[in-house]
Amino acid sequence: MTKYYYSCELDKNLIEKSFNNVALLIFGKNNSRRIEAFEDYFEKRVSQVNVYPQGTVTEYLNNTTPGRCRPDKDGNIIIEMLGYKGARNDQLSWIKHEGTHEFCHSFVDLLHEVLSNKSARITNDGFLYENSITKNGILHKNCSGKIIEIDSKTGELVGLYGKMFNETMMDIISSMAINCFDSNGRVTSVDDIIRLNFNDWGNETTGYSIFTSITRLTIAAFSNNGFINYQNAVDKGLSIFDGTTTMANGDTYKINDFLYGIVFDQLHIEEEFDKFMGSGSYKIFCGYLDSLFTISLSEQKLPSSEVKRVMNILPDFLNKKINYYRQNGILDLKGADKIVGNFNQIWNSMQQEYGSYFTEQDINEIARRAGII
Ligand SMILES: [Zn+2]
Repeated sequence: MTKYYYSCELDKNLIEKSFNNVALLIFGKNNSRRIEAFEDYFEKRVSQVNVYPQGTVTEYLNNTTPGRCRPDKDGNIIIEMLGYKGARNDQLSWIKHEGTHEFCHSFVDLLHEVLSNKSARITNDGFLYENSITKNGILHKNCSGKIIEIDSKTGELVGLYGKMFNETMMDIISSMAINCFDSNGRVTSVDDIIRLNFNDWGNETTGYSIFTSITRLTIAAFSNNGFINYQNAVDKGLSIFDGTTTMANGDTYKINDFLYGIVFDQLHIEEEFDKFMGSGSYKIFCGYLDSLFTISLSEQKLPSSEVKRVMNILPDFLNKKINYYRQNGILDLKGADKIVGNFNQIWNSMQQEYGSYFTEQDINEIARRAGII
């Protein structure tokens, strides 16, 4: 059973609302049975939720780290955050955002365990079982919303990647959830958050905000249905994360492989990316993004040349995927054009946002790599 600690009624509400915001968005408000089932699991695996008054400094919290989701000595989770007690009026919506963000971490930390089907299946690279895969003697596992690599023989830690995507998606999901379920009069829709720059969401901005356009571009690249109206789906009480769509050849795919993977199974994203970009590509891409994240977080500015690299890699992935989908009848031309059009809209806006301008020659180079010209 989870132990809850808070010092005022408002902070008790912060806990309940943060849980509900995330649960309603991730599972869909019609899926109350799944929410209840997850709540039971949460109570087993989260040992403590501590909400401290503003100004509290602990080993893990201070005014620059207002929340933390971390393992306890038994491998269960402790959620800690600064709450409403002692807060100024201008901090209220930020506290709500941070609370939702930390709860979102706890959901993502646990969901791959809940959904683990325990049955082994064989892929081109090896065995995939219990949310882990072994490639060349290295075990890849979902780990707190990231991917961890362990040497199967020695048990040694080889790598851990996906932090940038994990953190930015916690902010993106929190903004969607607060807009949908915890604000008076919604200004922006779920689709707006995917489509528009963070300054136009009407939500709190954080140190992570400057990276969110890269993550939005990634979401667009992993779409399997460009016509989906995400807000309609949420309003109907459906999950936009593990919802499925029927492809032109009749197969059932996730609506969006990235949205599904970031919440339920990070290895799914790696599998999709590597399928088109080559084995090991996702690890390299994430490793690069994670170091960019660490370096640029304190400066709050992304070098335009680095963003340009990302803006070269993601079109390659999307073009390869779309070519494959078209050749195999998975998408018709209209479906393919819509996904590419949505992607291009974000890609174009990033030139100005980051000062990462592409010349005609640069663009022709992308087309050449895709075999278009
Ligand atoms: Zn975080």
